[in-house]
Parts: sequence; C-alpha cells; structure tokens
Amino acid sequence: MIETKGYAVHEAGIDFSPFDFERRDVGPHDILIDILYAGICHSDIHQALNEWKDSMPTNYPLVPGHEIVGRVAKVGDQVTKFKVGDIAGIGCFIDSCRECPNCESGQQQFCLKQAAFTYNGTEMDRVTKTYGGYSNNYVIDENYALKVKADGDLAGVAPLLCAGITTYSPLKRFKVGPGQKVGIVGLGGLGHMGVKIAKAMGAEVTIFSTSPSKEADAKALGADHFVVSKDPTNFAPLTGTFNMILDTVSADHDVNPYLNLLGVGGAMVVVGVPPSPNQIHSLSLIFGNKTLSGSLIGGIPETQEMLDFCAAHNIKSDVEVISPDRIPEAYDRTIKADVRYRFVIDMRAA
Ligand code: NAP
Ligand code: ZN
Repeated sequence: MIETKGYAVHEAGIDFSPFDFERRDVGPHDILIDILYAGICHSDIHQALNEWKDSMPTNYPLVPGHEIVGRVAKVGDQVTKFKVGDIAGIGCFIDSCRECPNCESGQQQFCLKQAAFTYNGTEMDRVTKTYGGYSNNYVIDENYALKVKADGDLAGVAPLLCAGITTYSPLKRFKVGPGQKVGIVGLGGLGHMGVKIAKAMGAEVTIFSTSPSKEADAKALGADHFVVSKDPTNFAPLTGTFNMILDTVSADHDVNPYLNLLGVGGAMVVVGVPPSPNQIHSLSLIFGNKTLSGSLIGGIPETQEMLDFCAAHNIKSDVEVISPDRIPEAYDRTIKADVRYRFVIDMRAA
C-alpha cells in the first residue's frame, strides 16, 4: 500500500486537518500521480457541509478534490498512455463499469452501474472508499486519467478538470458559436470558465451576477455585458433575447426570470446544484418552445477534447493558489462569493 497525506473533515463543516491514509499499490494498468495542484470546487464545499444529504450523503472522513493535476511518478507494466514524468489530470470520477452503453459511448459519468467518484464514493468493488485530491498522491487506472500539456502555470489547469468540462460540455452540446447570445449566471469558478470558453467558441456573452464589484473582472475575462441580477428592472429589456443561458449558481435562487430571457427555441442549462429544489412555471417553458436542461461534467473523451481546446485557445483558470492550511479560509470566502475565480491548493506543500 502507498502512504498518503491528505486533508480531511471528520464531520459536517470546514474544519480541515491533516489525515493520513493508504492508496492501493500500482497495478498493471495504473499510474501513481504525485499531486501538484488541487482546485476547490463548490461541490467540495456542498459535500463537506453535507448539503446534499438527501441525495448524496457525505461519508466522513471526507478528503475532497476532483480538480487534480500531478506528475506521473510510477506506471504499471501494461500502461501505454503515460510515462514517468508526464503531467496527468484527474477529474470527478476514477473508474466505471466499462461495458454499459453509457461507458461504451464515452459518457462514463452516467455509467449505469454508477461511476466510481474521485471522493465520497467507492472504487468499483463498492468497498474501498475513495479519497480525493486534497492529498499528495493518487493511484488511478490510466484510462481514467487525462493527458495535460506540461507547460506554463499548471495551477491554472487544475480547475479545467471540473469547472472547465462542466461548462464546455453544455456549451458544445447546444452548439454555441458566432452570432449567438449566451448568458452565464454566477461569476464564480464555473462561471468564469464559462465566459472564457463561450467567448472562444465565438458567442456574445452576458454575465448575470449578484456582485456589482465583479464587473471589471467580467469584462477582463472577455464578457461583452454585465448585468446585476439583484435588480429585477435590469431583466425586462433583455426578454426573449438569449439563445442559451448557463446557470452556475450554487445557492437557492429563482430560475424563472432567466427562462423569460430566452428567445424562441432557446435553452437554459443548469449546472449549479443549490440545496433546495426549484419551482418552474410550465408557462415559462411553453411560451417560446424553450428547453430546460441539466449537464453533469463530461466523459473521458470529451474531457480530453476540452483540455486540448483550452490548450489551443490558451485558456486557463484565474486562480488564487493557497497552502493546505488555508483551506477553511478559502471555503469561507467561496461561500461568500468572494472567489476570484478559483482557489487552488498547492499540494507540493503537503
Ligand atoms: P462558486 O465558485 O462558489 O460560484 C458560484 C457563484 O454563484 C458565486 O460566485 C456567485 O456569483 C453566485 N452566487 C452565490 N450565491 C448566490 C445567490 N444566493 N444567488 C445568486 N447567485 C449566487 O461555485 P462553483 O464551484 O462555480 O460551483 C457552482 C455550482 O455548480 C455548485 O453548486 C457546484 O456544486 C455545481 N457544480 C456542478 C457540476 C456539474 O457537473 N453539474 C460540476 C461542478 C460544480 P456572483 O457573485 O457573480 O453572483
Ligand atoms: Zn467540481
């Protein structure tokens, strides 16, 4: 077994402390990654606080982290995709059944036997608990690790493994491109990646934010327009004008005002997971033949495609790199929407 140093919460809260555990030895198809950086996703926070207790209860101790970039330290004797010294990424899942229709079509996140999530889950044996990337290493089957171009600032690449793919996948599925108007709701970790990717796809992008102080940043990120969402009078002039709206908000909020902003045939995609259910008025969808959709991260082939797209367009996350002892402070600031725009933990210090 491989000794691993991580950071865990032992009950609902943000009181992280050092936590030692073991990972499996490197099997023939596995790689061992020495983790360099791990992003802090709001999903980590929801689970640390057990906010999804009704659907995905947290199994403590919890070591979160599913935006992982590291250097390959060891490879199994059957490994072909990686060699020692390569940079590899790990996203939200580390294995799946590999034979159901969803796995076969490269949508392993929807494995009919349920994918093995990177943390707060189990390996496919359904026994071995998974611990995430707030740790100094990970052992993963090479088929579930991503290839990362090894240049420049790798801290800014880690958030692509969740925030990047979660925004890339629906923007691509709804064929965002030149001449299209896209709204991004919430300028946090996902939102800021959404702006960069939608702009790279050629769309005109509007940010809807509760934080007026983020306007200059939104423009610097490439947004064409910035709307303060707390003021309802800002919505009326925009009625019926959007092709697609991507809702990344982590807290309870009303989505109906955004549905009214879609044009005929427009689509709203929710990726944020607020704790409470939303109430949708059917008329908000009926008038204009609108679509309301969800989207969950992306499969391995699409995640690799997104990493390659971001490398080609020089897209990285805007990050604030912290040492592991500052995780609670980063959680606190993210909850207060004071994140610009992703906290990334430097795991080399672990
Ligand atoms: P984040 O960095 O905390 O950003 C969320 C943003 O939502 C905040 O920065 C804030 O932006 C806005 N917001 C916060 N409270 C709000 C409120 N009460 N009303 C309206 N807006 C509010 O979070 P994240 O990491 O981007 O994650 C966002 C959500 O996506 C989380 O629920 C997370 O679990 C989920 N997620 C889903 C997937 C998926 O596959 N579907 C993947 C990853 C994450 P402004 O200051 O601009 O208003
Ligand atoms: Zn995430």
